[in-house]
Amino acid sequence: MQQITTITALQTYRKTCQGSVGFVPTMGALHQGHLSLVQAAQQDNDHVLVSIFVNPTQFNQASDLAKYPNTLAQDLQQLEAAGVDAVFLPDFALLYPDDYAYQVTEKALSTQFCGAHRPGHFDGVLTVVMKLLNLVSATHAYFGEKDYQQLRLIRGMVDAFFITTEIVACPIIREADGLAMSSRNLRLSAIERKIAPQLYATLVADTSLSAKREQLSAIGFAVDYLAVLDDRLLAAASLGEIRLIDNVPYNDRGAKA
Ligand code: AMP
Repeated sequence: MQQITTITALQTYRKTCQGSVGFVPTMGALHQGHLSLVQAAQQDNDHVLVSIFVNPTQFNQASDLAKYPNTLAQDLQQLEAAGVDAVFLPDFALLYPDDYAYQVTEKALSTQFCGAHRPGHFDGVLTVVMKLLNLVSATHAYFGEKDYQQLRLIRGMVDAFFITTEIVACPIIREADGLAMSSRNLRLSAIERKIAPQLYATLVADTSLSAKREQLSAIGFAVDYLAVLDDRLLAAASLGEIRLIDNVPYNDRGAKA
């Protein structure tokens, strides 16, 4: 597996690729959710490139950024074992020669739900994804439905700016107890980890939105929002310092597992 740390090396690698290129952007601390994106990319493409970059501009709290898990050596082993062709490991100076003077902002959906609780978050996400899509020029890029609002905003950006990379959505991968896999789960205490699956269980229970909200609060979650977007019920709720997000299919008759 080739490790790429400069734009020149990325361009050289890209020129050697014949056929389709699948791109999987990540912030590292890889788990099965990320690896499912890699597998989807491998099924569809001749070459697969994964990026690992903890993007500071999408963190609205310095402490969240400082505590974001870093498991780079393990990540590289997992990607190598999965048969990934190349991994792009940029740093801030490489991706932000403008020091974030230029930003991509969406003005509607990005102000709701997670955007309402994390000011500037989606500006950071959209800006870094735009940069990565431009640099990698992949035929396909893979994103998880776990971050459903993010996925919607990235699709919207790609349409708005005529980016030719096809965006592919991948289903949420969960732990056996239902908790959606997330790098931040590593930071849950033992007690919080036991409570955390209740977020998913509550979302899919046959109850009203207000009952779900009450139940989550009663269990000990601080609920940021419960909201319907398209045909999905989205939620964000914190346990202690750790903010979890999840979503499930939802229609007039309620949620489905
Ligand atoms: P992150 O490293 O958290 O920025 O995530 C990188 C990509 O993996 C994003 O497209 C996420 O939506 C996706 N992802 C993260 N967790 C999961 C999961 N549990 N199931 C599916 N995709 C996921």
